[in-house]
Amino acid sequence: MQITERMVASFHYTLTNDAGEVLDSSRGREPLVYLHGGHNIVPGLEAQMAGHVAGDRFTADVAAAEGYGDYIDELVQVVPRKAFAGVDELEVGMQFQAQTAHGTIPVVITEIDGDEVTVDGNHPLAGEALHFDIEIVDVREASVEEVLHGHVHGAGGHHH
Ligand code: ZN
Repeated sequence: MQITERMVASFHYTLTNDAGEVLDSSRGREPLVYLHGGHNIVPGLEAQMAGHVAGDRFTADVAAAEGYGDYIDELVQVVPRKAFAGVDELEVGMQFQAQTAHGTIPVVITEIDGDEVTVDGNHPLAGEALHFDIEIVDVREASVEEVLHGHVHGAGGHHH
């Protein structure tokens, strides 16, 4: 059974960057489960999953633009500390929801300099080329409900 539109695939992955550093891995956990065609995983990886069957092992190289996006300088902004009214203690690494020209996006504080607070709305992996070591564990047909919802139900998916 091949991975095509409206199929649900389970797979193990190890994600490394250009430097060969491991950024994330499903090894030692349950495999990741996704609905093919549902945009549940980054587009560059989804495209390279197509046609594979259970048991396949392969490497998928994904450019930043097809992964978590290019790094957008405009998503880095310096805002005054008073913009965080109601937050007692500001720390680097804290996350907030921010209203921007790109909609509501999560931002993280990357620097605090006196009254100036730098926030970054880029995904932590924006601008990174991604290298996935993939092992397909299982492929099955999606249920009608899963296709309508655009995501997987049950083990590894949504419970609602
Ligand atoms: Zn659902």
